[in-house]
Amino acid sequence: FNIKYAPAPESVSAASINEQYNLFINGKFEKPLSKKYFDTINPATEQKIASVAEAGTADVDKAVKAARAAYNGHWGKMPAKERAKYIFRIARMIQERAREFAIIESLDGGKPIRESRDIDIPLAANHFFYYAGWADKLNYAFPNRNVSPLGVAGQIIPWNFPLLMAAWKIAPALACGNTVVLKPAETTPLTALKLAELIQDCDLPPGVVNIITGAGETGAALVNHPDIDKIAFTGSTEVGKIIQRATANTHKKLTLELGGKAANIIFEDAPIDQAVEGIINGIYFNQGHVCCAGSRLFVQESVYKEVLQKLKDRIATLIVGNPLDKNTDVGAINSKQQLQTIQKYIAIGKKEGAEMFESSCALPNKGFFCRPTLFTNVAQSSRIAQEEIFGPVLAIQTFRTDDEVIEKANNTPYGLSAGVWTNKGSRIFNITTRLRAGVVWANTYNKFDPVSPFGGYKESGFGREGGLHGLNAYVK
Ligand code: NAD
Repeated sequence: FNIKYAPAPESVSAASINEQYNLFINGKFEKPLSKKYFDTINPATEQKIASVAEAGTADVDKAVKAARAAYNGHWGKMPAKERAKYIFRIARMIQERAREFAIIESLDGGKPIRESRDIDIPLAANHFFYYAGWADKLNYAFPNRNVSPLGVAGQIIPWNFPLLMAAWKIAPALACGNTVVLKPAETTPLTALKLAELIQDCDLPPGVVNIITGAGETGAALVNHPDIDKIAFTGSTEVGKIIQRATANTHKKLTLELGGKAANIIFEDAPIDQAVEGIINGIYFNQGHVCCAGSRLFVQESVYKEVLQKLKDRIATLIVGNPLDKNTDVGAINSKQQLQTIQKYIAIGKKEGAEMFESSCALPNKGFFCRPTLFTNVAQSSRIAQEEIFGPVLAIQTFRTDDEVIEKANNTPYGLSAGVWTNKGSRIFNITTRLRAGVVWANTYNKFDPVSPFGGYKESGFGREGGLHGLNAYVK
């Protein structure tokens, strides 16, 4: 077992980015049969970073065939402990190239480098480490079942945590013995393509992981391919429903991780300063491009004034700007289209009669930026309280009793996550069990760990990723 590490980049400027990227199929980078390419741009400068291949139906077919051949061949026959070594090797190599991955993630997606460096990339590596550990222990994970892999998994991911979402998808699939065809989002393909280079360097057998780039049409071709055994999708509820319909009368297994409109609930006995940090983290982390963002804040009336003042003071200190500057708190909005969506919701919020407050910081002249924003006087039925904005916009409501806040918090089509701030253990227990949300954080927010399962209720999807539960999605 010889690990062949590529040299780590020496400095920030050492993040090597090609001018053009092809499709990663059967262990090689191949020009697309479609002959089409699209540009990926830096949302902080609006400049082109690279051109990226757009996979057409024939390219998708080629990738699925490669994945099937690998599944029927070497990978399917490989002892589990050997599979584990490859997954472990991928984890180690992500750590070795962490700096380069972090820079590219921030360049391509707009997130602050502090977040890519300290959260996205280490968590992606941790995910591979964690599932490497399970590969040869599936009989312990499923003690009463003789499980086997599903076959070829088609995996489609969004742009908010590009490398991390790829890790969430690929690591458990490989641990269970499947092969994969992964499609990253069209605005953030670069770290997945870097991962493809890494996979090539770590000698993973060809065809086990295939990475094809493109937009919705490429994703649809993958979903509709007849030789796919499983679709794992993370993205909007709208597209999730399209995929659910497309796979309804097929043999394909499906898991959906969709949108959210999480309630972050502050009780009067909460540690207020800590809660304010949790509110800030909940909604402004990654510019609010987070499926589990605490976008609805519920504050108990007796502490409302204090919380609101502290929140406004704290928002005033947030630095919005260059994602590559390590002092930046809020980076660039991922795309022009997403910025327009956020601006549309801000206009709707004002029109609905809510009161807006935004930080007064200066914004860069170029690029897609949005100030941290909050709304008070928000009606429960208003669109900014009901619909996912996926940006740095917080809708604040108040409440008096536990029953009232449970009723309000559950009054949403979504059910992905929630937060509860109180110093009473019994209240944490009571409220968390009554909230219809897949993940509930108590006195913290946006904490992730590969050991913990993640997933939603209602229109936030079904199936769980992460932890022991995450294996379930990749075995029969
Ligand atoms: P999106 O649904 O527009 O796109 C997601 C992916 O699906 C992209 O790769 C896109 O190219 C592809 N796609 C688009 N149309 C398709 C089609 N018809 N068939 C197949 N694939 C298609 O979502 P987005 O804007 O990229 O991501 C934001 C959404 O993702 C938000 O709603 C957010 O809440 C959700 N999200 C959920 C989780 C979770 O774990 N629940 C995590 C991250 C993001």
